[in-house]
Amino acid sequence: MSEQPIIQFKNVNKWYGNDFHVLRDINLDVAKGERIVICGPSGSGKSTLIRCVNRLEEHQEGQIIVDGTELTDDIKAIDRVRREVGMVFQQFNLFPHLTVLENLTLSPMWVGKVPKKEAEEKAMQQLERVRIAEQAKKYPLQLSGGQQQRVAIARALCLKPKIMLFDEPTSALDPEMIKEVLDVMIELAGQGITMLCVTHEMGFAKAVADRVIFMDQGQIVEQNTPEEFFNNPQNERSRDFLSKIL
Ligand code: ADP
Ligand code: MG
Repeated sequence: MSEQPIIQFKNVNKWYGNDFHVLRDINLDVAKGERIVICGPSGSGKSTLIRCVNRLEEHQEGQIIVDGTELTDDIKAIDRVRREVGMVFQQFNLFPHLTVLENLTLSPMWVGKVPKKEAEEKAMQQLERVRIAEQAKKYPLQLSGGQQQRVAIARALCLKPKIMLFDEPTSALDPEMIKEVLDVMIELAGQGITMLCVTHEMGFAKAVADRVIFMDQGQIVEQNTPEEFFNNPQNERSRDFLSKIL
């Protein structure tokens, strides 16, 4: 018997307000350990889609089931899901008044009730994983953008998520810093964590994605392996999109 998908969207529809239909009949099964890249034009609903996975956005119709828990208004279910899902944003969202180490230990200590010493040890392990341990005592704004984003990744990893969501994690970075962040993400991808990553970094998609999903106007228009998607897009809207980014 094959394993249950770790994330399921079943006929999901979402509106902003009464009449802006932002997600249209989304059906998506994500297997445990699968790495998915989501691309598509600005405004197509990519951020909204991944933000529904940890209920930063609510859907109005259909079902979203994450690791066996259906997302509803039930706050306990939402908490359970959020403990399993880490998220990294375009704008790192670090706390500027806390050191790098404090950014990493805050949630484990105050939400997870982990003793300080243990939280710090675990945080240092994650900082080593993203190769930035030597910056632990600095404040975020003393670091480069690429370093800050690696700290944000380490912070998400401290909570031991089964699923990582990335929303254009390199879009706010200067070109020379993109690689250091992508390299860390490529390493993570090799470690079995389920990843949903909104990005237009084709090299990353080719290196790690099991599947590329193309969205347009709130719909999943096409999905395929990176090789097929980039070399041989089937849909006119995908072809049009690729002709603009490539
Ligand atoms: P993408 O990430 O693909 O650029 P988004 O999911 O951010 O797209 O947004 C999809 C559409 O929904 C856009 O037209 C955007 O303006 C709109 N939108 C996003 N967030 C909100 C919100 N909180 N309220 C109203 N409209 C929103
Ligand atoms: Mg977005």
